[in-house]
Amino acid sequence: MMNEKSTFLGEDGLIYCSVCKEPKESFYPSDFLFGLKKHPRQCACDRKEREEMEKYFREKERKQLIERNRKNCFEEPEMLQCTFQNSTEDNFAFQTVKKYVSNWKEMKKKRMGYLLWGPVGTGKSYLARCIANALLDCEVTVKMMNVGGILNDLFAAEDKKEYIRCLMKYDLLIIDDLGAERNSEYATEIVFSVVDARYRSGKPLIIMTNLSLVKMKSETDAGKRRIYDRILEMCVPMKMDGDSKREKLATNKIHDMKEVLNL
Ligand SMILES: [Zn+2]
Repeated sequence: MMNEKSTFLGEDGLIYCSVCKEPKESFYPSDFLFGLKKHPRQCACDRKEREEMEKYFREKERKQLIERNRKNCFEEPEMLQCTFQNSTEDNFAFQTVKKYVSNWKEMKKKRMGYLLWGPVGTGKSYLARCIANALLDCEVTVKMMNVGGILNDLFAAEDKKEYIRCLMKYDLLIIDDLGAERNSEYATEIVFSVVDARYRSGKPLIIMTNLSLVKMKSETDAGKRRIYDRILEMCVPMKMDGDSKREKLATNKIHDMKEVLNL
């Protein structure tokens, strides 16, 4: 911060900054109507200070925007904790999606998404949340929902088309628990309309499902077949078969218990 004391009067009659040695005043052009008059000007220090201030406010705005996007992305606050930084996982799937995140612009242009499939407890949702959080940090808008949530929302929505349109605004849409919905024509129809709208929006989609790839590819129900075909057009299938997290947790608990009980 400049203060008055750190200036000096130059031989030309202008006040100078004693730090950067630039004048803090300048003369109006000599043919100016009222003669030789001075006006203040910013020295290098002032300009730097102003730039830093602007940078500070820009950064603050950016962070606020990211926080708004993040709140908007997840349905439950604990999902905010699922980040690559917080994770100790380093399996193939993690390494692959980290590359996906760092090449996001290219992936987005190519409309590349993932179909993360595999049994319950293999960390599909966790992985997807890590992707979401990493992209949110880069000002990408992401929406993560499970199929049940979409069905409930759409059932209640007054304007269903508008609801679907809103889902398409996000740079990345992540849908969890495909195949866990109640088996009904209505549900199949809704899921197809969301997946198809996403396809037509030209934006990436990430899907998580407990269904196996073989099951999806050999589906005989025409309605479901339509959904899976669309998904496989947009999403690269990736099998999640890493150690089941829940199982590992259970094993650890049993181990702890044995230690405590001296078994
Ligand atoms: Zn200065």
